[in-house]
Amino acid sequence: MREKSVAVRIGNAVVGGGAPVLVQSMTTTSPKDVEGSVKQIVELAQAGCELARITVPTLADAEKLKEIVAKVRAAGVEIPLSADIHFQPKAAFEALKWVEKVRINPGNFVSAGQNIEDVFSPFVREAKKLGRAVRIGVNHGSLSARILAKFGNTPLGMVESALEFLAICEAENFDQIVFSLKASRPLEMVQANRLMAERLREGGHKPYPFHLGVTEAGEGEDGRIKSAVGIGALLIDGIGDTIRVSLTENPVNEIPVAFALLQAAGLRKTKAEFISCPGCGRTLFELQIVTREVKNRFSHLKNLSIAVMGCIVNGPGEMAGADFGYVGAGNGKITLYEGTEPVKKYIPQEEALDELEKLIKERGKWIEK
Ligand code: SF4
Repeated sequence: MREKSVAVRIGNAVVGGGAPVLVQSMTTTSPKDVEGSVKQIVELAQAGCELARITVPTLADAEKLKEIVAKVRAAGVEIPLSADIHFQPKAAFEALKWVEKVRINPGNFVSAGQNIEDVFSPFVREAKKLGRAVRIGVNHGSLSARILAKFGNTPLGMVESALEFLAICEAENFDQIVFSLKASRPLEMVQANRLMAERLREGGHKPYPFHLGVTEAGEGEDGRIKSAVGIGALLIDGIGDTIRVSLTENPVNEIPVAFALLQAAGLRKTKAEFISCPGCGRTLFELQIVTREVKNRFSHLKNLSIAVMGCIVNGPGEMAGADFGYVGAGNGKITLYEGTEPVKKYIPQEEALDELEKLIKERGKWIEK
C-alpha cells in the first residue's frame, strides 16, 4: 500500500504528499563550466526531466550556482535545481542561497571529531528560513567512520546514519526533507529503504518522502536492469516519491528509462500500454513486425492499452483487459477486439492497422500526436 508521505515543496515542484513520482537526473558537468551545465540542464528538461541535480564540490563551485540558475531560467526552464554536496558545509550554505534543494551526505558532512549538531543544526535553520528542501542522502559506500565502527557497512548502518540527521531536523521542527539510501547493489539498496520506512513508522516519525536510486548502476542493459530491480521492488512496495535512474551514459538517456519504469510499476502513464504474446507455433502473422508497427502508430495514446496476440486460441482470454486487441485469425486475416468482444472480424492483414485506427477514432479515443 502506498502511504501518503509528507509533501515537500521544491521550487515549483512537489515531492511526496500524493504527487506523481518525480523523475530526476544529474548533470555530468562541473559548475565552473557554466555554459556546459546550463546546456545539459536545458537538454534534461527538454527530455522530460523534472528536477536536475548539479554536483558542487567546493565553495567556488557553489558560487557559480547563481549564474547557472539565472541562465537556466532565462532559457525558459523552470524545473527545480538541486545541489549535491559532499564534505563541504560551506558550499552547502552557499548553495541554499541559489537552488531549491540541497543534498547532503551524512557520511561526510561532518568531519571526524566535530559534533553533528554544531554543523547540521545551523544548516537546517538556514534551509528553513529560505524555504529550501534538503535531501539526507546516504550512500552505502561512504558511511562515516563513526557509523562503520558501530554498525558496519550494512543497511542498518545506512539507516542509523539517516536517523541521526533526522533527529536534528525534527529538533528544529523542519520537515521539508527527502531521504535516499543508495547502494550499487539493488539488494542492499532495497533492504536499507525497507528498513528505513519501517523505522520511520515504528518510531512515530512523519512519513517523509523517499528518493530512490541504484547508485553506480552502470550502463546499457546492466544499468537499466539493476535500476529496475532496485527501484521497481520499492515502488511496488509503495515506497518512493522521486527516482533517479543512474546510468554511465548521457544523463538524457536516464529519462525515458525512468518513465518506463514508473509506467511498469503502474504509477505514471506516459505512453499506451502494450500487451503482446511471445508468439509460438500457432502464431498466424509476423508478430514482431506487427507489434513494432502497432507501437509506432499508437504509443502516443497514453490512456489506452492495446494487445497484439498471435492467434485466437488463447488470444482474447489473455489480453489482460486491454481496451483493444489485434488478434491473428488465420489465412492472412486479423480480428479486432474491443475488450473481449470481436468487433471487426477477418479483416485482411494489410488493412488491419488502418481499421484499428478507425475503430479507436469511432470510439472517440483517438488523439493526434
Ligand atoms: S496467443 Fe496464440 S500465438 Fe500467441 S503465444 Fe499464445 S498460443 Fe501462441
